Amino acid sequence: MSNAHDRIILPADKMPTQWYNPQPDLPTPLAPPLDPETHEPVTPDQLGVIFPTSLIEQEMSQDRWIPIPQPVLDAYRLWRPTPLIRARNLEKAIGAKCRIFYKDESVSPAGSHKPNTAVPQAYFNMTEGVKRLSTETGAGQWGTALSFACSQFGMDCTVYMVKVSYEMKPYRQILIRNYGSTVHPSPSELTRTGAEMLRRDPGCKGSLGLAISEAVEDAATHDDTKYTLGSVLNHVLVHQTIVGLETEQQLAEQGLKPDHLVGCVGGGSNFAGLVLPFLRRKLDGENIHFVASEPRACPSLTRGEYRYDYGDMARLTPLMKMHTLGHAFMPAPIHAGGLRYHGDAPILCNLMEEGLIDARSYFQTDCFDAARLFLQTQGFLPAPETSHAIKAAIDVAKEAGPDENVVFLYSGHGMLDLASYDAYLKGNLDNFELPQSDIDNALKECPQI
Ligand SMILES: *Cc1c(COP(=O)(O)O)cnc(C)c1O
Repeated sequence: MSNAHDRIILPADKMPTQWYNPQPDLPTPLAPPLDPETHEPVTPDQLGVIFPTSLIEQEMSQDRWIPIPQPVLDAYRLWRPTPLIRARNLEKAIGAKCRIFYKDESVSPAGSHKPNTAVPQAYFNMTEGVKRLSTETGAGQWGTALSFACSQFGMDCTVYMVKVSYEMKPYRQILIRNYGSTVHPSPSELTRTGAEMLRRDPGCKGSLGLAISEAVEDAATHDDTKYTLGSVLNHVLVHQTIVGLETEQQLAEQGLKPDHLVGCVGGGSNFAGLVLPFLRRKLDGENIHFVASEPRACPSLTRGEYRYDYGDMARLTPLMKMHTLGHAFMPAPIHAGGLRYHGDAPILCNLMEEGLIDARSYFQTDCFDAARLFLQTQGFLPAPETSHAIKAAIDVAKEAGPDENVVFLYSGHGMLDLASYDAYLKGNLDNFELPQSDIDNALKECPQI
């Protein structure tokens, strides 16, 4: 293969026009979401308080293929299809015998994979007459993505941003406000949940779970407002499958197939978007290794318990069956803010229980080392979240055979995360190894089902 093929670009007319929904193909059906009070399966009517009908239908759909509406395709074309790039310099630097490719989702307006679901979520809400969307954001990428999407469809947007990220990463909230959205550091005084937390702990730096509680409360208490989630839910994972579907075509164009698919996991949406389109091939016996990478400071897949838990701290969301560290778990303030979530997507956890996913966890300094190597070889600066995928891809590539293909998902760029890289260079990054007693204590608060 010559260098001419190092950037594999899909022609615009080859962009997928349907998302893949894995639900009909799961070896065991998903455990249903449960009402947090009665513990009965939630009804579409209950979900209708915070979500539009079309997204609830997608959440529960058993259709394998879901058409992408034309206005969503038009918005996707602002940056899609995204390139698949051969990381030849990185291969050389680590002495890999295999090929390494990365699917570059950093080229989107928000700089990450998140607009892939923000755009359809804003669009489907708009078609049902919703005027404003509320949401939470960790590192700020989801808030940026949703703000971009709302600006495309003339909608208002309110973002609750985890306070530690609001303070460590001020540039994202500036970007969010420039798109035309409103952003509040969470915990805030604007919701009952936020005010209560500030009363108990005035110095609270927040968590994704807490910010979710605030955003859900905002939507539930305003008629013109619905809630959006940037990860975890089935419909979010479905929207992200455009990533894996494009990757499949791009590799096939070169006569290649993937042997290892690698991604980082916060709530699981970018990783799922890459691997799910290959699920049927794996179940049919093709040897494709799915590798999930998460922070050792927030190890939900590798050390969490598979059980029903709330999606948020205030216990407002339905109960979901997932690998969880407990909704009361407060992760250490690592720089990969987008990976600080106590649970994981139920679809991903279902596959994990089937033994279909190899999950690994890494310290943040090792991930920053990998990110810096990527910067110095391939030239681009990855997001701290993405550095977890790079670290795992390097580990996998070092063990892979000569003709194998390692494909990792480059979930976002790090150009607004320079303060984290500064702390890294100054040796100011801490590694957090979580004592089992912390996990045990947080799990005690999970509902008994
Ligand atoms: C949000 C985010 C993640 C983690 O979220 P997932 O739902 O697990 O994909 C990873 N990388 C980047 C750049 C992000 O913005």
